[in-house]
Amino acid sequence: MKLLVTGAAGFIGSHYVRSMLAGEYAGCAEADVTVLDKLTYAGRRDNLPADHPRLTFVQGDVCDVELLRELLPGHDAVVHFAAESHVDRSIDAGAAFVTTNVLGTQGLLEACLHGGVSRFVHVSTDEVYGSIASGSWTEEWPLAPNSPYAASKAGSDLIARSYWRTHGLDVSITRCSNNYGPYQHIEKLIPRFVTYLLSGEPVPLYGQGANVREWLHVADHCRAIHLVLTKGQAGEVYNVGGGNEMTNHQITEQLLELCGVGREMIRYVPDRKGHDLRYSLDDSKIHEELGYAPAVSFAEGLAETVAWYRDNPGWWKPLTT
Ligand code: NAD
Repeated sequence: MKLLVTGAAGFIGSHYVRSMLAGEYAGCAEADVTVLDKLTYAGRRDNLPADHPRLTFVQGDVCDVELLRELLPGHDAVVHFAAESHVDRSIDAGAAFVTTNVLGTQGLLEACLHGGVSRFVHVSTDEVYGSIASGSWTEEWPLAPNSPYAASKAGSDLIARSYWRTHGLDVSITRCSNNYGPYQHIEKLIPRFVTYLLSGEPVPLYGQGANVREWLHVADHCRAIHLVLTKGQAGEVYNVGGGNEMTNHQITEQLLELCGVGREMIRYVPDRKGHDLRYSLDDSKIHEELGYAPAVSFAEGLAETVAWYRDNPGWWKPLTT
């Protein structure tokens, strides 16, 4: 098995590749992995092993059609993580989101088609569904993304589906809830709040902290992606939920407790523009059809994550300047 993994210098992709190279995924203990990553502000070469006999690292852009044409042939499958991923940045400047997330995905699919790579897993997000007041989204729910980030991911999902329907590429799509865990950029809520608290600063909580998200440990998300790669069906979408639905206020309280400080460390700030109130996935399909089950309890995963940031200031402090 020879895999090409895009965006694997970032948070989730690097977890996937580290786990793959450590032999944690059934059937892929000897897999060769090519990582293609542009190393934007969000990607770090040192999130991956420096020298590993089964890893080839290529610094490059998923929008570079020439590079893709050279690189793709000889691979058995692509797992596509590369994306501009931060909602707030998409509100400030959306162009890079459309370029990387939509055009980059299309170029990659096209290169797979011409390079003889038939299997493609497109890693997407629950944010493509919009916001839901009650109940949960199944995979059949219409897409109604609200932020430029979510809209660009929805566009990439539709392009991915079209390469299955039109060209017969073996494409599966995953849509996961919010991830947490080590190596996540400090622009995202949990690492942002943890690193503020570890630095003795109050955390900036949007609005009243009433927004509801489901949280999943990155290790569980990566296991789900690997199940989809090996057992998922062509043209199918798989929701991957966390099952841990919480308001941002509840998450913040847990982080305050883990960091040993009180509510005086919350600073309420004006809400994000167009902030989705609630996300909730019905992920019974991946449970029933692929035998998926998350393994990391939220309480343990969150405590370990806080400990990781406490123990690794050398990883995140350079990002604060
Ligand atoms: P991240 O921002 O940590 O990493 C993104 C990676 O992509 C970085 O290494 C970056 O250098 C690379 N990249 C960006 N533009 C590129 C380009 N043009 N060419 C090549 N590489 C490029 O993101 P993440 O949190 O690890 O998310 C990975 C994927 O999972 C994304 O597609 C995201 O939409 C999806 N997702 C994330 C979450 C979450 O909670 N973080 C939840 C569901 C789905």
